[in-house]
Amino acid sequence: MNFHILTLFPEMVMQSLMTSITGRAVKQNKIGIEAVNIRDYTKDKHKRVDDYPYGGGAGMLMQAQPVYDACKSVLQRLPEGKRRVIYVSPQGVPFTQQMAQELAEHDDLLLICGHYEGVDERVLEEVVTDVISIGDYVLTGGELAAMVIVDAVARLVPHVLNNHQSAQTESFHGNLLEYPQYSRPEVWHGKSVPPVLLSGNKKEIDIWQKHAAIQRTKERRPDLYRRYSELEECRKILMEKKLHHTDMTELVNRGRAVFVFRNEKEILLKDRESGIYFHTDLNLKGEGSASEFDALFTQNPQAPLRLHQQHIAEMLQEKYAYSTKACYRQMVYTRREKLPVSGLYSINGKTDGRYEVRPLDAKEACLPEICGLKDEFPEMEKQIKKGCVYGCFLEGKLAGTMGICSDGSMGMLFVPEKYRRNKAAAALETYLINHMLEQGMVPFIQFMEKDSAVFALQEKLGLSQAKERVFWLERE
Ligand code: SAM
Repeated sequence: MNFHILTLFPEMVMQSLMTSITGRAVKQNKIGIEAVNIRDYTKDKHKRVDDYPYGGGAGMLMQAQPVYDACKSVLQRLPEGKRRVIYVSPQGVPFTQQMAQELAEHDDLLLICGHYEGVDERVLEEVVTDVISIGDYVLTGGELAAMVIVDAVARLVPHVLNNHQSAQTESFHGNLLEYPQYSRPEVWHGKSVPPVLLSGNKKEIDIWQKHAAIQRTKERRPDLYRRYSELEECRKILMEKKLHHTDMTELVNRGRAVFVFRNEKEILLKDRESGIYFHTDLNLKGEGSASEFDALFTQNPQAPLRLHQQHIAEMLQEKYAYSTKACYRQMVYTRREKLPVSGLYSINGKTDGRYEVRPLDAKEACLPEICGLKDEFPEMEKQIKKGCVYGCFLEGKLAGTMGICSDGSMGMLFVPEKYRRNKAAAALETYLINHMLEQGMVPFIQFMEKDSAVFALQEKLGLSQAKERVFWLERE
């Protein structure tokens, strides 16, 4: 992913961003950062970029022409890809961790830094896709704001942080602030580290950290705590049919669920990452169900849905004229212990295994074998860029793929004919399950009834099948 910062003070942003983690990520080619000097694009012979605002008022305004030309020059040389042009301004939408997550999925982000009293409105209307504020205060220029956004987004780009786990436990994940942390010495200024953290008991430590995170959120951010509690209430209802609702409980566990609606036993959640809506209604008669859908469809007529009751799927398909309805089995890996890998794939370069399994990188998304899967797995390329798709290789040749789909389930399983009946699928899924367990996730898969080979593999790996099906409603 590449950041292009349009500024009057390129040295200010580069000096700062080329230090520490972002600097290291640039050197390792994980991200690219460039500062574009807006002044280089002015057509004024004195190199001016500002002028008085019409209608009077204090201070100067950045003129449209240099900002426009600087922006166009960057856009013209970018390859095709997902991009956004952000103007940082105190008048923008407040920046959040969720926005950082969404922006991290792009190929290019352009950030325009204002100065003086800001920028001529007309150029903003023409080039900008988003206006973002970093808080309700006024800075002298947009550079610090742009740096904040670059820093928060860059650390979410796959492999920028060495330890993926840290982004999973830290503040705002699942609406909780992070628990307090301690380092050496054990006693400092007479204060001891909480004894449980020295116990080496992972389970006890997890419980303590979760409790401390909840306490801290309650005290410091009652607004976040309210959201956390709402989702906990939903989780309790969903757990009444654990296997059937794993897709929904995992949204909550992985900090992706946005609470939309709940009554006694009906729940509607939105997945913040994929935009998919998940619904269940455990009221036996299903009366009053789906009442919230009218409002949902007025706002978002394209909303893709995952439903957990057939009668609701049928009712909504007819009422809102969905073109596709598909019915999926759901199977869940319910254990916490990892699967044995011996004979399947090698770990840390040891040659006891057959395959090498590793994440596919963005360049590999263009391999002909992968491009050929576009129709079957439309989101494959996007998921590869997010670092969520794994390839298994035999003597350097791609022998299969599997990954985490945008809705959080395992999928995109593909093994070319040549490598079938050779444990390639088992190697991939075992790797994926073990990797997801390490991240604290519950692995699950949804697949069509007719996929008997997929079913057989799930049984072999010990996944449990939910009795009820999950229904997908989508528009073509
Ligand atoms: N006159 C502008 C207003 O009242 O909205 C403020 C201009 S400010 C002095 C100069 C520049 O700093 C802005 O154009 C913007 O790019 C940046 N800036 C200031 N505060 C910001 C904030 N809270 N978030 C993002 N950018 C900010």
